[in-house]
Amino acid sequence: MSDWSLVYEKFEPDQQGLREALCTLGNGYFATRGAAAEAHAGPVHYPGTYVAGCYNRLETEIRGRTVENEDLVNCPNWLPLTFRIEDGPWFDLASVALLSYRQELDLRRGLLYRSVRVEDEEGRITKLSSRRFVHMVEPHLGAIELMLTPENWSGKLEIRSAIDGRVTNDGVERYRDLNGQHLEPLGSSCPDDETICLKVQTSQSEIRIAEAARTRVFSGDRAVGVERRATTEAGYVAQQFSVAVEKNSPLVIEKVAALFTSRDPAISECGLEARKAVARAGRFDELFGSHSCAWEHLWQRFDIAVDLEDEGPGPQNVALILRLHLFQMLQTVSLNSSDLDVGAPARGLHGEAYRGHIFWDELFLLPVLNLHMPQITRGLLMYRYRRLDEARAAARAAGFTGAMFPWQSGSNGREESQIVHLNPRSGQWIPDNTRLQRHVGSAIAYNVWHYYQVTGDVEFLLLAGAEMILEIARFWASIASYNEELDRYEILGVMGPDEYHDAYPDASRPGLDNNAYTNVMAVWVLCRALDLLETLPRDRRAALCDRLDLHRDEIDSWDEISRRMRIVFHDDGVISQFEGYENLQELDWEAYRAKYDDIQRLDRILDAEGDTVNRYKASKQADVLMLFYLFSAEELGSLFERLGYRIDSETIPRNIDYYLRRTSHGSTLSRVVHSWVLARSDRPGSWKLFSKALESDVADVQGGTTQEGIHLGAMGGTVDLIQRCITGLETRGDVLWLNPHLPEPVSRLELRIHYRGHSVELEFTHERVKVTSLPGYAEAIEIGIDGQTHELEACQSRRFRLPSR
Ligand code: BGC
Repeated sequence: MSDWSLVYEKFEPDQQGLREALCTLGNGYFATRGAAAEAHAGPVHYPGTYVAGCYNRLETEIRGRTVENEDLVNCPNWLPLTFRIEDGPWFDLASVALLSYRQELDLRRGLLYRSVRVEDEEGRITKLSSRRFVHMVEPHLGAIELMLTPENWSGKLEIRSAIDGRVTNDGVERYRDLNGQHLEPLGSSCPDDETICLKVQTSQSEIRIAEAARTRVFSGDRAVGVERRATTEAGYVAQQFSVAVEKNSPLVIEKVAALFTSRDPAISECGLEARKAVARAGRFDELFGSHSCAWEHLWQRFDIAVDLEDEGPGPQNVALILRLHLFQMLQTVSLNSSDLDVGAPARGLHGEAYRGHIFWDELFLLPVLNLHMPQITRGLLMYRYRRLDEARAAARAAGFTGAMFPWQSGSNGREESQIVHLNPRSGQWIPDNTRLQRHVGSAIAYNVWHYYQVTGDVEFLLLAGAEMILEIARFWASIASYNEELDRYEILGVMGPDEYHDAYPDASRPGLDNNAYTNVMAVWVLCRALDLLETLPRDRRAALCDRLDLHRDEIDSWDEISRRMRIVFHDDGVISQFEGYENLQELDWEAYRAKYDDIQRLDRILDAEGDTVNRYKASKQADVLMLFYLFSAEELGSLFERLGYRIDSETIPRNIDYYLRRTSHGSTLSRVVHSWVLARSDRPGSWKLFSKALESDVADVQGGTTQEGIHLGAMGGTVDLIQRCITGLETRGDVLWLNPHLPEPVSRLELRIHYRGHSVELEFTHERVKVTSLPGYAEAIEIGIDGQTHELEACQSRRFRLPSR
């Protein structure tokens, strides 16, 4: 295992689902799981291909009730490429003797490699070596090269290359009771001797999907002419041919596939485009050359080099895992997706969990993108902006004004959270109230603001960003109700990030009152809205206010609410996660840890026991502590001061200690946040949590969820822990501040960021920081270290000695 390759030396059927998710190849336009080309969906394998933004809705009857779910559609499988010897059975790993196996995901070049030697019942030994990629700059193309070497036999090989559109969404066990048949066949063709083409359509959203595949055969560099036979059936097209092979003479089969949908820009008809793309595509090596070159450039911008003195506890491959996380982020969202009107699905384009929906997880991802390729962030924020009207309609329907963004978003920005979900532990369908997480709107506003802080992209702010912030602020002002007795504003009946608590014990209605995170974020959004109104150019502000029908009295009320929002504290001064949290029962954590191997999903455990987690002081993930994650102590201090509450230097450590002891880390986001908030006060504790967060997907810490899709937020969050948290990197007041506190095991850290038009190389050790701006045209920037600011011009390098701590 190098710092650049994920390697598996053994075939382990029960690990296959996980590996297929981790070895997914994609480019932000589409992604295909790392299932082998001959694999079929079943208990071991799940080949899945997902196109960003390709959603479809289906209805299912559950307990006499019709529910509708929107899924990111599993598109036709373009991989199938297999063989048989003479007229024997088609190749199946499970029915031959496996002599050797190696699978490698090469992150540097975006290549999935597999080498297998097998022996069949007749004693024939065949070696299969395959290489595969999904092209990073020709986003519609994917290619496979399969080299077959008969090691001790000569004879006839029959090859089959297919496109299979009979697939369904069947990758997540607990969704299997729900309808997953999204595709309807439209037709297939063989436009020329080498090419097959399939077209299907999604049943409700009517997205047409076309795939074409060109299959060629070579012996050495010589093209081998073959007689092909086509087979078609509804939703399926294949071509088969036979080739005579000689002992020890490798036969190379190249399959180049193109995928287009009717959602694509700059197309006539998707079938025509797919056929054209494969006809124009070069050979595997030529395509691979431009693909790997694109990755080389991406790595120049994104790579993080971490030197560890002593790996200490935790994963042994920190550098590799960080690269894997960056790799999977860029395969989910990239420059290819920035114009596609798509968001960042919480589970990537890597599986079907959460149905490809978009949550607040962008909060953990965008800081990384902002500092490397802010164009990607802009695209993701525009996805939200285009759904602002839907969010306005949702607010109106709920009796509010402004914009109420959905907790789960898909095609058109409607609320996509389920109404009921299955507890796999108890087999019961239970109400899903997570849609009450109204705080998602604040995350969007926060993302807009921080994108602007990093890039200074005023045009975006004027075009879309300001309008989103104002409409989200308006929503907060309208949902806040005035409590005369307390002379405070309150937000009632919502949920915080800790999804365990969705109601008061024994309450007949879901929702909690005065969730501290929600209320503080609402205040922060209101403050940013007020700032914006102060700073927008006069004519643009007037135009925006006219359009939004926003007047002085409403703006004054925002100011008032932002000063009188209620935050509830425990008697001893700890910030209450929500009003009444203090009265909940303490959970006997030790007893639950002893009784169950894994209590990460304590909610399901208690539910299956006939109890409910709503009764206990037990959280799934950081809630109050999210505030310390998103804001510096100074920022938070001034927000509380504005509200007339005092928090002192003890507040942060006391809250961290209190809530960390009551958290089960049932979400992979949880350890990211806890590691961050401990980074300054408990570096070893923080590193331990970071190490575990880093393992979320590679080691599948939740025991089975990664195979259903990666955890994109945790991937982004772990990279950001290195990029911003331990470096103390902040973009504040037009200054790039650095305040590094490297954890003990990290001896050196090197990264390159993009800031205000500069490519800046940053090198940190425990004693020094070196900042270099590469050649460029942008105006000088300000670097802030230890309270002092310093100018940095393009082509300039500066070194700073860090104060000893
Ligand atoms: C977490 C949410 C998160 C979602 C999608 C849930 O388990 O509790 O905070 O947004 O997963 O990643």
